[in-house]
Amino acid sequence: MSRNRLVAGNWKMHGSRAANQALLDALLAGIAGTNAVECAVCAPFPYLQQVSERLKGSALAWGAQNVSEHEQGAFTGEVSAAMLREFGCRYVIVGHSERRQLYGESDARVAAKFAAAQRAGLTPILCVGETLEAREAGRTEEVVARQLDAVAIDPKAPAVLAYEPVWAIGTGRNASPEQAQAVHAFLRKKLPGEMRVVYGGSVKAQNAAALFAMPDIDGGLIGGASLLAQDFIGIVKAAAAAAASERVGT
Ligand code: PEP
Repeated sequence: MSRNRLVAGNWKMHGSRAANQALLDALLAGIAGTNAVECAVCAPFPYLQQVSERLKGSALAWGAQNVSEHEQGAFTGEVSAAMLREFGCRYVIVGHSERRQLYGESDARVAAKFAAAQRAGLTPILCVGETLEAREAGRTEEVVARQLDAVAIDPKAPAVLAYEPVWAIGTGRNASPEQAQAVHAFLRKKLPGEMRVVYGGSVKAQNAAALFAMPDIDGGLIGGASLLAQDFIGIVKAAAAAAASERVGT
C-alpha cells in the first residue's frame, strides 16, 4: 500500500482550554517517532486557535468538524472554508452521521460542503456509513454507494473517505476487521484515484491493530478514544506498526 496511513481524532463537542492543553501536550510527547503515520485532531470551532498555536511546527495536524457550503453571507452561526483555511486548518469532517441524523444534512448538502472545503484548499474527510437497520436489510453497499455517488470526487484534489457504520459509532461495538474490509474494498473500487479510506466506529487501542492490518483500511477516524491521550497514542502506534510490518513484507 503506497497510501500513508491517517489517524484523525474527532473531539466532537468536548473540551476546555485546560483539558485541550493537557491532551495536546500528551499527544505531542506520545506520537514522537510515529512519522510513518499522519495524525490529526478535529476540535470544536472555539478551540481551533488554541489548537493551531499549540501544534504549529509539529507533526500533529488539525481540522474542524463542520463547514458551511457557502462562501460568505447571511448565514448566522456558520463558518466558511476560507475562514478555516485563513489560519492554517488542514482537514474538515463532512457528512458525519451525527450531522446527517441530528441536523438533517442531506447527501446534496454534504456534497456542497465537500466541494466548498476543496475550493478553499482544505482536505475534506467525507463520512459514509449505514444504519443497523440498513445493514440488517442487506443494504449496506446501496447506502454507502448513494452517499459517495452524491459527491463529485476529483482524483487530483486531496480528500479522505471515512467508512463509519452508524451502529458502531460511540456504541463500543466496532465492525469486525472483515466487515470493515469488505465495505472498504467496495468503496475503493468506486474511487477514481488513490484516496485514503479510513475506518471509524469504536476504534480503541485494543482493536486497532486488527483493523489496520486489513489491506484497504488506511487508518482511522476516532471519536471517544481521541479524548484520552494514551488511547489515541495506542491507536497511532498500532497504525505505525501496521505500516512497518507492511514495509518488511514488501
Ligand atoms: C466518530 O464519531 O467519528 C467515531 C468514530 O466515534 P467513536 O470512535 O466514539 O465510535
